[in-house]
Amino acid sequence: MIVIKSPVEIEMMREAGRITAKALRLVGEAVRPGVTTRALDKIAEEYIRSEGAKPAFLGYHGFPATLCTSINEQVVHGIPGKRMLTEGDILSVDCGAVVDGFFGDSAMTFAVGEVNPEARALMDATRDSLDAGIAKMRADMRLYDIGAAVQQVAEAAGFSVVREYVGHGIGRAMHEEPQVPNFGQAGKGVQLKPGMVFAVEPMVNAGGYEVRSLDDGWTVVTADGSLSAHFEHTIAVTEDGPVILTVE
Ligand code: MG
Ligand code: MG
Repeated sequence: MIVIKSPVEIEMMREAGRITAKALRLVGEAVRPGVTTRALDKIAEEYIRSEGAKPAFLGYHGFPATLCTSINEQVVHGIPGKRMLTEGDILSVDCGAVVDGFFGDSAMTFAVGEVNPEARALMDATRDSLDAGIAKMRADMRLYDIGAAVQQVAEAAGFSVVREYVGHGIGRAMHEEPQVPNFGQAGKGVQLKPGMVFAVEPMVNAGGYEVRSLDDGWTVVTADGSLSAHFEHTIAVTEDGPVILTVE
C-alpha cells in the first residue's frame, strides 16, 4: 500500500529534507583531496544532531555511519572510514535525517578536485536523469514513467542504470512502498496521486549495469569496475506538480 501524506505531513517532511540537504551541502564543501570519508561523516552527524534531528542511516539494519560514502566504482552503501580522497575521484554521498518521525533521503556525487571528462559526463547525465524522472512526478502520470525517463536520459548519454537497487516510497519509514525503479516502460504502474512521496535515486554506471557486493556486507560496486554516480531527492507529488523536499 502506498501511504498518502497530508499537506501538513509533507510540510513536516520538508524539514527533514531541509536538514538532509544542508548536511549534504556541508559535506560537499569539505570534499577535497586528503580528507577521509570518516571526517565527512562526522561533519554530517554533528550538523544533523545540532538541529535536534537524527541520522537516518546510523544503525539502520546495523549500518555503522551517518553517511554512505561510495568512491569511483563503488555504487552505493560504502562505509565511511580511513580512506583519503584523491584528486580525480568521484564520491557519492547518501544522507538521511529523521525529524519528528519523518525521513528525508538525498544523495549527490561530488568531484574531488579535477576529474576526467568521462567522470564529469557521468555525473552530469546522472543528475539530468534524476531531473527527468522528477518531471514525471505529476498526478496524471504512472509509476514507470519516472524510471522510463531516467533510463532514457542515462542511456542516451551512453551509460547504464543499475537494476538491483531502486528508489522507494518514503515517509514515517525510510523505505515504504512502492519500489521506484530507474528503468521500465512508460505508461505502466500505478497512477501517481497528490500526497505520494518518493525518493528517486538513479545509480548510473559508465559501463554495464551489473553490480556486486563486497565482503564488508555493505559496499556495492560495479561488476566491471567502471565508475558509478548516484543522485537522489525526496519528492512529493502535489496538485501543483512535483515538489522537491530535500532542498534548503
Ligand atoms: Mg539515499
Ligand atoms: Mg533512498
